[in-house]
Amino acid sequence: MNYQDLANLIFPDVKDSSYFEEKYPNRNLKEGAFVTRFAPSPTGFVHMGSLYTSFSNIRLARQTEGVVFLRIEDTDQKREVENGVEGIINDFNNLNIFFDEGPTQGGSYGPYIQSERKEIYQSFAKKLLQEGMAYPCFATEEELKNLREMQELNKERLGYYGSWAKYRNLPVDEAIAKIKEGTPYIVRLKSPGDFNHKIVLDDCIKGKIEMPENDMDIVIIKSDGLPTYHFAHAVDDHLMHTTHVIRGDEWVSSYPIHHQLFQVLGFEEPRYAHIAPFTIKEGNTVRKLSKRKDKEAAISFYHQNGVPNEVINLYIATVNNSNFEEWYINNPDKTVDDYIFTFDKMPVGGSLFDLDKLMNISKVYFSKLSAEEIYNRTLEYTKQYDLEFYNLIKDNKDYLVSLLNIERNIERPRMDIGSYSDVKRQFWYMYDELFDKVDAPYKEVSYSYDVSFIKEYLANIYDENDTEEEWFNKVKDYASSKGFATNRKEYKENPEKFLGNIADFCSIIRVMLTTTNTSPNMYDLLKIYGKENLLNRVDKFLKEIN
Ligand code: GLU
Repeated sequence: MNYQDLANLIFPDVKDSSYFEEKYPNRNLKEGAFVTRFAPSPTGFVHMGSLYTSFSNIRLARQTEGVVFLRIEDTDQKREVENGVEGIINDFNNLNIFFDEGPTQGGSYGPYIQSERKEIYQSFAKKLLQEGMAYPCFATEEELKNLREMQELNKERLGYYGSWAKYRNLPVDEAIAKIKEGTPYIVRLKSPGDFNHKIVLDDCIKGKIEMPENDMDIVIIKSDGLPTYHFAHAVDDHLMHTTHVIRGDEWVSSYPIHHQLFQVLGFEEPRYAHIAPFTIKEGNTVRKLSKRKDKEAAISFYHQNGVPNEVINLYIATVNNSNFEEWYINNPDKTVDDYIFTFDKMPVGGSLFDLDKLMNISKVYFSKLSAEEIYNRTLEYTKQYDLEFYNLIKDNKDYLVSLLNIERNIERPRMDIGSYSDVKRQFWYMYDELFDKVDAPYKEVSYSYDVSFIKEYLANIYDENDTEEEWFNKVKDYASSKGFATNRKEYKENPEKFLGNIADFCSIIRVMLTTTNTSPNMYDLLKIYGKENLLNRVDKFLKEIN
């Protein structure tokens, strides 16, 4: 009995590995094109961390006219979640992110779901068995536990390796007999490595990292017949012709295993780029952004709040390459797709996730959109998330567009909208239906003098047809007649002689309409809201504050 018999007993029906080598030939791409992949386990959704990793894979493939594919890594069936695959694909669709190949669109190197590639992995495991580079291991839970205890007691390195690997040198005949008896087993690599040898990972982002060679007889095929992550990674990235494995840096320490697998399988090794994760400050410590703990890790958080996909993309680009931000400022008409990303500009250590920065990017982004565009997208957003506002704006486009146009098409446009939900937050007071729902809208407001003259101003002085200049001159004259100083110097010299200065007068009108002290240009707001409505509003105002 020899290795061949053992391999045939374990995997009797699988095709020869040469079949798959032929089935998945080299890709016909131009020199220098990257083949990358995003390879999530089927967790059911995409989060900031995974989006960040997929971003680099996508950009680098696209900018080199290469290929980027989506591969679902579901070989750990204990971790299966309902709709795990569909959820991820849906999220990517909602984000307008499309891969060149993957479970839904297919491709010549599929299937792209690992559990559907069982025979492929088994075929390569069979090859290793035939060569004596893999073996069935019959260690029970109990045996592994005892092994661990012995190693701890003797202060030895933990793991299944060298002389601790009990079944490594089991004669083939005995192994065959055990299998025939029905003894459960898994398949392990017979590691040719020496822990005292060093290998070097030449990481595209982190540079050279020296590590001990792998000598662990790692599991390659589990008892359910599916491969481990390590084995599937080597087989898939070989057959799918990945040129660059761009993945989270939690995998750096597994590199010695992967390096060895590529060697024993006779595969050319891809380049590796390990991406530092998004981190977050918690008290005095910094930890990885967590999809379970941090609301801002979920993509749904941005969708629900109305932050556009493009903004998430811009933020990720900003973190991904250290000089993207400056480039984007200097090239305001370009998009992320026009920038060439390089590994040497990617952060080596974790990047603090900064929601404020993301929102600032969003405000700049919104300031460049036309009012019409914001209106259309707000309509779409509110239809899904805020039907009350949707119903108010859907048949009244011109009204909201004119509000959004206030201080928009100028050199330094307003920066007060960073999401579709901000539109309502900014302009709610311009809709009586919303205003009237607020209980005591002026509860924060009080004056040391009677402000009833505001009504007289609106009724007798204010004219909707005035130009901004005429309007302001009238405001000044009227304010002055009511005891307000019309220039700052005059007021500063004798404040006791005045009720306040012109700014205080304007503030009364502003507060009456908006309930707050900051708003877009008053002249525009008053004109858009209209005189009749103003007279209504002023009554509510005076009634509440008096
Ligand atoms: N399935 C692995 C993960 O989700 C993929 C790592 C890789 O890209 O190779 O972390």
